[in-house]
Amino acid sequence: MAVTLKINDIECSYGAVKVLNGLAFSISSGSFNGIIGPNGSGKSTLLKSLSRVLKPVKGTVLLNEKDLYKMSPQEVAKKMAVVPQETAVNFSFTVKDIVIMGRSPHLGRFENEGEKDFAAARQAMALTGTLHLADRLITAVSGGERQRVIIARALTQEPEIILLDEPTSHLDINHQVEILSLLQRLNRENNLTIISVFHDLNLAAQYCDSLILMKKGAVFTVGEPASVLTSGNIKEVYGASVLVRKHPVTGRPSIILLGRDTQINSKGGRIHVVCGGGAGASILGLLAGQGYELTAGVLNAGDVDWETARFLDIRMAEEIPFLPVSEQSHRENIKLLTEADVCILANIPFGRGNLKNLEAVSLALEQSKPVLIIEGRDIKERDFTGGEAELLYNGLKENGALVLRDEAAVLNKLRDYF
Ligand code: ADP
Ligand code: MG
Repeated sequence: MAVTLKINDIECSYGAVKVLNGLAFSISSGSFNGIIGPNGSGKSTLLKSLSRVLKPVKGTVLLNEKDLYKMSPQEVAKKMAVVPQETAVNFSFTVKDIVIMGRSPHLGRFENEGEKDFAAARQAMALTGTLHLADRLITAVSGGERQRVIIARALTQEPEIILLDEPTSHLDINHQVEILSLLQRLNRENNLTIISVFHDLNLAAQYCDSLILMKKGAVFTVGEPASVLTSGNIKEVYGASVLVRKHPVTGRPSIILLGRDTQINSKGGRIHVVCGGGAGASILGLLAGQGYELTAGVLNAGDVDWETARFLDIRMAEEIPFLPVSEQSHRENIKLLTEADVCILANIPFGRGNLKNLEAVSLALEQSKPVLIIEGRDIKERDFTGGEAELLYNGLKENGALVLRDEAAVLNKLRDYF
């Protein structure tokens, strides 16, 4: 794909304060790009430097191979339109007055709008579903409608590229999707290149082909959503613990916030979670969010708990998909458990294949380790071994394992140990 914008090692400052440092990346023609990053990381500043508002003190921005800052504002405005973050339009303009303003780069200094200009405005209003608002005062439309009007004004410029700064931040979820679906349609059907700052990582993941992740005035990484939105990157840039899953419908990464990395558990301590099949995913996520060091086992590769442990970078004893726990993975499980301070047994079903997991837990008790059992359902309903698992399980209880109702109770109880 042809490159439409090329950013060559730019540096930007406000007065003496350097805000952007050594940014370099390219935007392909017809692509949908998201700029993400924490507050103050420089997203809006980057957008200003790309839209000829804030000239970089170093480096260049090339628009279709021409230096953006050597082009006239009018020349740039024919190629590029901007939807700013805050549009304070408290004047007595009607919607159609606002939209036709988009034609100014195409008009001579004393030229009035002609039929061609009105046609462009009408088309933009049709695309954005704002025609019916034409004679309404801009102060008398809703937030979502106003954003559509501002986008209509941008489209009236007939640009190749549209830049938007958090275009949906003040809208409810329904209007967010409406605006982003509109942008997606313009991108796909009209080949409009889109560069938008996003606050919401899930929306960015869902709509963008490419993401630019900013950290402290620099580009941390650029790429497809799946390669940019990893739990590791998010932890490093935002300082937040998240779980990233592949969205079952869109196939895009989907981010679940687990908690801030405030080291709630400041005394350290390691917990081993015996789980599998998905029964352990939520406790693993909760504990990781609290800053506990975790291990897990024995998990069959590819199952939900295994995926969760992998995303959270948790060390685990693992087994080939659908195979019973082997001697080797059992030993690995015991090794991890032995190194831990506390052992948790999740609410898993037991079959012949994972009976060894119960044996491992009984070993933890022999080592005088606290064992917490999450008992969501009675063991009778989860025993598919004809009673053997039930026997072992009840043995755990008799030997001092603590039975807890759910994950919240476990978090509470752990405060006694750490
Ligand atoms: P973001 O959009 O990612 O939240 P900004 O680009 O707005 O970040 O800000 C980046 C940094 O530049 C921040 O430290 C901010 O305080 C500073 N900054 C932003 N605008 C100005 C300005 N007009 N004058 C001085 N500093 C500014
Ligand atoms: Mg901003």
